[in-house]
Amino acid sequence: MKTIQPLIIILLGPPGVGKGSQAVKIHKSRHLPHISTGDILRANIKEKTPLGLQTQSIIEKGELVSDEIINKMVLERISEQDCKKGFILDGYPRTLAQAHVLEKALDPQAMIKVIMYSAKNETIVKRISGRLTCKHCGQVFHSTLNPPKKLNICDNCSHELMQRKDDQAEIVLERLKIYQKEIDPLVQFYHQKGLLQSISCEGSIDETFTQANLYLNS
Ligand code: AMP
Repeated sequence: MKTIQPLIIILLGPPGVGKGSQAVKIHKSRHLPHISTGDILRANIKEKTPLGLQTQSIIEKGELVSDEIINKMVLERISEQDCKKGFILDGYPRTLAQAHVLEKALDPQAMIKVIMYSAKNETIVKRISGRLTCKHCGQVFHSTLNPPKKLNICDNCSHELMQRKDDQAEIVLERLKIYQKEIDPLVQFYHQKGLLQSISCEGSIDETFTQANLYLNS
């Protein structure tokens, strides 16, 4: 019987660059599960689970949740049946220690593709400061670049849109600072393995997606 080689797509890039929107498009086109560690944590906070209660204040301050907690959460998720053919990681790994744990957990036969999304700081700040998130379903809009049909109402589920606490200006700066500290070793790690492709997010969502597809198909 022919076995299918799993495809693991890892999306790196600063908060607000547009990773989440790209992940959704890749998920729709390739039918691979989209695993966003931020989304999983926010869902846990909303449901007031022990994980949510444990991590809420850390996330609201813009700091990183411990590697131990995140690794456990991700390893559990990727061991589920729907991940057998591969998956898209959005927001993980974020530290070199996480990358090492992930590497050990992956099927040695898997094809790994890592995309490093980048944009100028001013683009990031503009994108993140206008970002509106649905409290209920997590759908993301932007006040000017991708506005909802009705002001502050989710197109998807009609619940109210809000700004994430950690999208407020001073918390965003903290998140960018932490990102800058952690990203270089991660980039080096994947670059040395020949797995990394950098893609600019300065263009439209579709332009960026086209670039990513060229790489993913290569
Ligand atoms: P995101 O939606 O990816 O920007 O994640 C929101 C927040 O969740 C981050 O600022 C962190 O507090 C936490 N988080 C998400 N992914 C990770 C990770 N891989 N490692 C540590 N903390 C994470």
